[in-house]
Amino acid sequence: MPQKHITILGAGITGLTTALKLNSDPSAQYHITLIASHYPGDESIDYTSPKAGADWSPQATSSPADAEMREYDKNVVKDFAVLDLEKEDAAPEGAVMGVRCQTICLDVPQHLQYLLEKVREAGVNVIRSVVDVSHGLEGVVQDAKRIAMESTYAVQDSDVFALVNCTGLGARHFVGEEEAAKLFPIRGQTITVKGEAAMDRTYDDFPPISSSIDDENELTYVIPRPGSGTTIFGGCKQVGNWDPKVDEELNGRMVERIKKWRLAEELRTGKEGDFEVVSSQVGLRPGRKGGPRVEIEGKEKVDGVWVVHSYGHAGAGYQSSVGCSEKVAKIVNELARL
Ligand SMILES: Cc1cc2nc3c(=O)[nH]c(=O)nc-3n(C[C@H](O)[C@H](O)[C@H](O)COP(=O)(O)OP(=O)(O)OC[C@H]3O[C@@H](n4cnc5c(N)ncnc54)[C@H](O)[C@@H]3O)c2cc1C
Repeated sequence: MPQKHITILGAGITGLTTALKLNSDPSAQYHITLIASHYPGDESIDYTSPKAGADWSPQATSSPADAEMREYDKNVVKDFAVLDLEKEDAAPEGAVMGVRCQTICLDVPQHLQYLLEKVREAGVNVIRSVVDVSHGLEGVVQDAKRIAMESTYAVQDSDVFALVNCTGLGARHFVGEEEAAKLFPIRGQTITVKGEAAMDRTYDDFPPISSSIDDENELTYVIPRPGSGTTIFGGCKQVGNWDPKVDEELNGRMVERIKKWRLAEELRTGKEGDFEVVSSQVGLRPGRKGGPRVEIEGKEKVDGVWVVHSYGHAGAGYQSSVGCSEKVAKIVNELARL
């Protein structure tokens, strides 16, 4: 019996985690080709994953509607506690809610490289190529098959039984008009500075620093990148903004708030107590109306291949990567048994 072959499109956090999950699934042995135009180490506005913070941070607000979500959060990380702000010296003026917990921070470039190494070690066929999106989803399926077959004699057309689409915002070019209209960027901008901050901190929904500036889409976070000797400062969540250029004025406001709230005093090792800036960058979180799409495409195969989507993970692609890859594996395993 020929091995079932799967093509996975995309080598961001979603594609790499999915490749590892499908490859390690003991219930089914797949042969996998991973195809992407960008890989760890590349820099492009079309490649979001290297631009992330990235940490796990609670998404629940003080709203009663989020009470259930706050309960879930308690089970995800250690020592999760809603703070009594009256007793917190460090709480900024006007704060309405705060939580403290042990969390996870990643050195994103290193983590992506690590996942890619694991994918290669696992025997996944890793190909750098742009998949032609000009003929819609069917064209994408055909082109991915062609790329897989040209890269290895082990794959015949009929062996390819599934394609997993992990192309982030790139999906908008081939998923059809109605679906593409649901996809939008949530622009983020960060500064990398020297040194590792002692704590990961996020402040959101604060009052404007000046009445002349609309900074409603801005938040402030400090995320150390363990082992890298650097820390990420952020940021913003600008819905619908595709601008790839760094906004220097926004950087100024980010640094001003971090200094004002004393969020990373230990990193002020530069001239006159400034931070030592290494770089600044823009990334586009893959937003989707209705949340991430992790599901099978329709009820029929496309050009003889089942298509399973996993895109639109917005600002939580790292947080949700393991859970989403498990869901994809479950769908693919069910399809393999048909
Ligand atoms: C500033 C910022 C901070 C963030 N912080 C966090 C955080 O703290 N925690 C968290 O969980 N998330 C965070 N995120 C969100 C997270 O980065 C994204 O959700 C995640 O990176 C999306 O990954 P992805 O693999 O789906 O897409 P991408 O990383 O964009 O990967 C898409 C892949 O598809 C490939 N591709 C697309 N089209 C084609 C084609 N036609 N042919 C071949 N290949 C193609 C690309 O080359 C690429 O390899 C942050 C994002 C930003 C911008």
